[in-house]
Amino acid sequence: MNAVNPDDFFEVIAAKLDRFERVPDDVLWEVATRDGACMLLSRSDMEPEWTGDDLTDRELAARVCAGCPVRSECLELELRTSGDQTLGVWGALPAEDVRALYPVWRSRRRRGGQLGDEPGGGR
Ligand code: SF4
Repeated sequence: MNAVNPDDFFEVIAAKLDRFERVPDDVLWEVATRDGACMLLSRSDMEPEWTGDDLTDRELAARVCAGCPVRSECLELELRTSGDQTLGVWGALPAEDVRALYPVWRSRRRRGGQLGDEPGGGR
């Protein structure tokens, strides 16, 4: 089996986010906060026990995100709002991956004419 080229990995993820290009921030925000698995957990008594240990908490968050129905919306919103300054886990990706994805995502959007030059996406 061939190894996946990291550039292709991020290009594939960024391409999947293209469908949100014209979706306003507030719509993404509403969907993520309404349907996000972490939001549902925080409104219930099933919230995971955060340990305060960064690695453990990130693994826990990644597991919560893995079952989330709005991972793509969440990731798109994080790319727009935090960009390469992101921290934590969003859309089931750790911050290192979101930071690596950011320039690929941004480049695609520039080609599509939707971004300015401001950090975080320019919206
Ligand atoms: S992808 Fe993760 S952080 Fe984003 S809304 Fe879903 S559970 Fe929450």
